[in-house]
Amino acid sequence: MVITRFAPSPTGYLHIGGLRTALYSYLWSKKNSGKFLLRIEDTDLKRNSKEAAFAIENAFAWTNLSHDGKIIYQSTRFDIYKSYVKQLLDEGKAYKCYMTKEELDSLRTFQMANKIRPHYDGRYRDFKGVPPKGVEPVIRIKAPLDGEISFVDGIKGEVHFNVKDMLDDFIIARSDGTPTYNFVVTIDDALMNITDVIRGDDHLSNTPKQIVIYEALGFEIPKFYHVPMILNNQGKKLSKRDGALDVMEYKNEGYLPEALLNFLVRLGWSHGDQEIFSLEEMIEFFDPSDINKSASAYNEEKLMWINSQYIKKLSSERLIKELEYFDVSIENFPKKEELIDVLRDRAKTIKELAVMVSNIVNEPTNYDEKACKKFIKGDALKNLAAFRETLEAHGECKSSEEFEILAKKFLEERGLKLKDLAQPIRIAMVGSAVSPSVFEVLNIVGYKNVIARIEKLLKHKGEENE
Ligand code: GLU
Repeated sequence: MVITRFAPSPTGYLHIGGLRTALYSYLWSKKNSGKFLLRIEDTDLKRNSKEAAFAIENAFAWTNLSHDGKIIYQSTRFDIYKSYVKQLLDEGKAYKCYMTKEELDSLRTFQMANKIRPHYDGRYRDFKGVPPKGVEPVIRIKAPLDGEISFVDGIKGEVHFNVKDMLDDFIIARSDGTPTYNFVVTIDDALMNITDVIRGDDHLSNTPKQIVIYEALGFEIPKFYHVPMILNNQGKKLSKRDGALDVMEYKNEGYLPEALLNFLVRLGWSHGDQEIFSLEEMIEFFDPSDINKSASAYNEEKLMWINSQYIKKLSSERLIKELEYFDVSIENFPKKEELIDVLRDRAKTIKELAVMVSNIVNEPTNYDEKACKKFIKGDALKNLAAFRETLEAHGECKSSEEFEILAKKFLEERGLKLKDLAQPIRIAMVGSAVSPSVFEVLNIVGYKNVIARIEKLLKHKGEENE
């Protein structure tokens, strides 16, 4: 059974890099009919907040990636961690260190001055004497003193760490008794039977420490996959300047969660040259050992393209629901399906779609000046007025074809071109010269409203000319 987890620390929002590792972990567990757990790593009471945890859960819920079981909060598990600290102390695998801050500082200064890697020198490792008074000890684990710690990373291959270069007897519990980061991650991964740890490669240097803890406690070591970072176009760490980092900003910009996931799965992983993957396909094809060994470059245009592909295919029902987030409700609009279908190919984001939809659904409140200058001149208003009369004489038009036949006849009789009428009509309908096929728009706006909107523009222009 494959059990994976996503373990964000609630120090801020859910980051897209985090969401990508969550997705990879999710896919890998689902592919193996396993489990995917969500664990909030909130033991750092100074840096973590409830609001941040809530924001992460909220963003995660938006992505629709379901987790198995309840969300696990590390802050509710302090007793468990304490019992393992005690176990290691009892077994002599960890010890109390009474070094004061001043002593630590002076050790560090000495090491730096002598070009030695700053590290704890093990002075309390075998201490048998009387502990100094007034110092609350920290608990340190007995790490190996030399040799190598190695493991096979599912992405990077064999990884070796020379103990002398990077390890010391690190702290597993602070003087106030709270356990440290690497300690709780290890305990939880072990107790939750995590078989495959998929995480960002910024955690690579934590892994040897965690292996020391696994070994001290006799836990089975999971398989690790360290995923290379997402970089910007300049090959630097992705920052806010390169685009949004907060998953919820993508929602606010009108991206669909499935499009964002599709974008993220491709950012660092591929399957032939396929670009669009349903979640089922991702589950079918994904294998973390195919994740790229090198960092991947963030590309917002690609995200937008993927989003537009999803908008083209999504059910109108769903798109109508999505529009509500942008305060556009067309649930009761008579031609809502036609409206969505005529616009879905033109919008790259739901935010754009919302603007286009509301431009058609609502009577214009103002008219684009440039478009008016360009198209409302000569006989434009006269033609519009005549077309309104033609419409009235004809009676209700019930389809875009009917509007088209009527308009073509009207133009023919007057020796006019389509453009003589189409742009002024667009301006009357949506306030600008940009809209989908004019006859589709007329049909969607509906006969009565078409007449009303023409009248409104005529009145507006008439008043302007007085
Ligand atoms: N809590 C860590 C973070 O948010 C992740 C720990 C892990 O995946 O092992 O970066």
